Parts: sequence; structure tokens; C-alpha cells
Amino acid sequence: MFGARRRRKATLEAGFLPEWRDILDRRWRHWALLDAGERARVEDVALGLIARLRWEPANGFALTDEVIVVVAAQAALLVLELPEAWLDGVRTVIVHPTTVHARGEHSQVPGLVSDEPMELLGEAQPEGTVFIVWDAARFAARHPERGTNVVFHEFAHVLDMVSGMVDGTPPMDTDEQAQRWVEVCTATYDDVQHGTDSGVLDPYAGVNPGEFFAVATEAFFDVPIDLREGEPDLYAVLADFYGQDPAGRLETRGTRAS
Ligand SMILES: [Zn+2]
Repeated sequence: MFGARRRRKATLEAGFLPEWRDILDRRWRHWALLDAGERARVEDVALGLIARLRWEPANGFALTDEVIVVVAAQAALLVLELPEAWLDGVRTVIVHPTTVHARGEHSQVPGLVSDEPMELLGEAQPEGTVFIVWDAARFAARHPERGTNVVFHEFAHVLDMVSGMVDGTPPMDTDEQAQRWVEVCTATYDDVQHGTDSGVLDPYAGVNPGEFFAVATEAFFDVPIDLREGEPDLYAVLADFYGQDPAGRLETRGTRAS
């Protein structure tokens, strides 16, 4: 216990290390799109997560700085303009080297019980554990154009849980904002379920409203221009909620991406 506390204090005191910045330069495409202020905020929040959370490797996997920094920075990006405390529900991040084949009841699809192994790339548990599959996370960080990102997905579930349940509606500032959110998300969710949406969102968005928000978050940050074009209303409510404009960011600073 004292050891953990000391480690945490030492990590915070050392600050965000230059070698971690190098990792983000090389391993996370989004990093090149952020301006100096945004980078400072991501570093600040990521440092807090690196220090505070229990980072556990699964299955004999070894956690490197790259694993921890790439996951923490992406989680930090989600709360760039939101209260950092909204991530306080997370206590442990368990990183698996590769896809996990789970049996039994899968919390990602409530009520689903199956003897068939189901492929899991991640999971966010209400008790405060987030589980991430590293090869998928590493690939997504380098290839945002694919539009799927397990770290954004699971941490979107964490934001959703702040309001008590995973229902696709994270905390909103005003009733008006919440009303518009429900209106737009319900309409787009119906479109996804009927196959009449733009096709930008992964069909997994149609599983339930919680998955809809998580999948929409992945698209919002990783293929923002496509989402703004295909689902403008959805893009607008997400931009309002997150307080960010990733499409504008990509348009103005996209050429800096290597
Ligand atoms: Zn999910």
C-alpha cells in the first residue's frame, strides 16, 4: 500500500516524460493533430491516469511504457474538455496481448449466454476495471482511418456510467442538451437498426444504446470527417458533448500527420 502510494507520488513528480512524448509521436496518429494546449492537457490527464490506476498485464504479457502511455493518452483525449473526474470510476486497466475468447455470459451484450466463444477486444466493468486487448489498441492508434478504436470505445462506456447506467447518455449540462441528444441518437440508432444509416458507424452500434454511444465515439474521433458528412446531426451533438471538433482539427492540421 505504502509502496503504491510512493510510486504514485514519484510518477506525478517526475511529470510526463520526454520519451513518452516520443512514443505518442510514433505510435498515435492523433497526437500530430493536437495543438500545444491540447497536448499539455492530454499529458496532464494521462499522467494522472498512469500514476493513479493499477495497470495489470494478463496472460504473462509484459506491460511496457508504450502500452500504458498509448492507452492513457487516448483515454485522456476523451475528457480534454470534460471533467477529468468522470474517469474516477476506473481503478484498474487490464491489458491482454491479443483477442480473448470468452465463454458464458458476456456483459457487452446483456443477457447473452452462449457456449460459443465470443471474441472480446475490450470491456468496461461497472466495478471499475477496464480491459483492453493490446494488439487491437496498438493497430487502432496507428490506423484511425479504420474507424474502430477499442480504447475510445471502452472509455466512452466509462463516461456513460457516470450517470449511473450504461444507456448511451452520459451526463449533460442542460435539459435542452439532453433532449437534443436523445432525439438525435434515437433517430440514428433506429436508422442503424433498419440499415438506413449512412454506413459510417459500425453495425455493432445497433446492439443497444450503450454500444451506440461507444461506437459513435470511435467514429467521432477516428473518422470525424466521414461522420460529419454521413451523420451531421450526430456529429453535432457529439461535438457539443465532448466540446471538441475532431473534423476541423483534421482539416486544419491533418497535413502534419506522418
Ligand atoms: Zn461496448
